[in-house]
Amino acid sequence: MIADLRQIVERRLIGGSIPRLVRWGKVLPPGLVRRIQMDGFRRAVRYAGVHQKFFSRKLREAGLRAEQVRRPEDLGGIFTTPEDIRGLPAEEFLCREPQAVFETTGTSGGPKRVYFGYDELDFAARYEAAVFYENGLRTGDRAVCTFDAGYWISSWVTFLACKQLDVFCSAVGKPTPQEVYDRLSLYRYNVIVADPTWLVSLSEIAEKQGSFPVKLIFAAGDRMTDPYRDYVQRIWNAPVMLGYGSTEMGGGAGMECRERQGYHVDEFNLLFEILDPDPEGYGELVVTTLSRRTMPLIRYRVRDITRFLDGTCPCGMPIRRLARIRGRRDEMVVMGAGNMYPEIFEKVLGDVPGLSSNWQVAVRQEGLHDVLEFRLELTNGVSASAMEDAVRKNLEARYPDVWANQLCGMYRLAFRFCSPGSLVHGRKRKRLVDERGE
Ligand SMILES: [Zn+2]
Repeated sequence: MIADLRQIVERRLIGGSIPRLVRWGKVLPPGLVRRIQMDGFRRAVRYAGVHQKFFSRKLREAGLRAEQVRRPEDLGGIFTTPEDIRGLPAEEFLCREPQAVFETTGTSGGPKRVYFGYDELDFAARYEAAVFYENGLRTGDRAVCTFDAGYWISSWVTFLACKQLDVFCSAVGKPTPQEVYDRLSLYRYNVIVADPTWLVSLSEIAEKQGSFPVKLIFAAGDRMTDPYRDYVQRIWNAPVMLGYGSTEMGGGAGMECRERQGYHVDEFNLLFEILDPDPEGYGELVVTTLSRRTMPLIRYRVRDITRFLDGTCPCGMPIRRLARIRGRRDEMVVMGAGNMYPEIFEKVLGDVPGLSSNWQVAVRQEGLHDVLEFRLELTNGVSASAMEDAVRKNLEARYPDVWANQLCGMYRLAFRFCSPGSLVHGRKRKRLVDERGE
């Protein structure tokens, strides 16, 4: 049975054309996807148990043998954390001679370094090529990718994905939006791959100077709120598809389909778990790399909060979907209003007229009660009371549970209005801060 699975995986996933892979992906029974994954998981565990110092030590300490591990739960409390990767020497994780290294920066501490082989980058790009194809990218299209290059992985994987689809691609690092705008017509780019804030800047130029025919826009690398997405789509008259990924996950881990109901994840390269889910299914994302042999990661704590979406996607693809990321685990604040994430306030504040993008929400304490304080900058001469009304209305309509907790006295709402420019934070500004005493 297992030998058959390997044959399937090798014939369909590693070899063959991308259109064939996508067609096959649509008729694949979900049960078979699961079996391919669990087979991949057991192989990855056995491999890392022999070749990776870090993981073999963890197994030894837990008194486990790799052959006993059949499912992620069998590993109990064994995880790989961002702190492990950042703090330990690469030799702890490397299982074979690497051919490439990428870095990822966090909000604290030094960079995390993740090593790859060329074959692994190609395989990761195969998934990205498949979702590009499913979303309509075809030979003859011309893509420009402006993900930051340098030690970041995403622009390289996008380049390799376009190569697999025989699509013209300029992966040019992150030039200014004006530099790319000036070349849109010259190089006839009709597909743009970029991070959300850069896309908004490019769109602002196009709004003033005119837009060009664009077929598809892919955005990733940051969260993109609906008002930004709507704006970019309106300027280019093209759909914006969102992706999710990281260097540790090998670039793209998931991307939306045309239905845009969550990210279809790369279940052939990656096995996802949701750790300690709440009643709605939200918990911390944990990922095991199934096919990587240079620096496999077994049960890596991604620290992002998300959940699996139930049911089959209307697009028909049996590949599971993750909901949009709610926030980082370390950004979650547990308080009288419930479990608060930055995403909640992005949704509440995103379309409030006259509000600058420099807002912050703080959780304070007054006596024995929590206070949820909105710190907002007023622009365009909108009055403070009109803005407060708009925020209260959005909170009530979009998060009735959060609103109800306020009505029954679990916390109090407060507003502080500041002059424009007074709420400027660092590059990774914190949207939601917990200022209650220890
Ligand atoms: Zn779908």
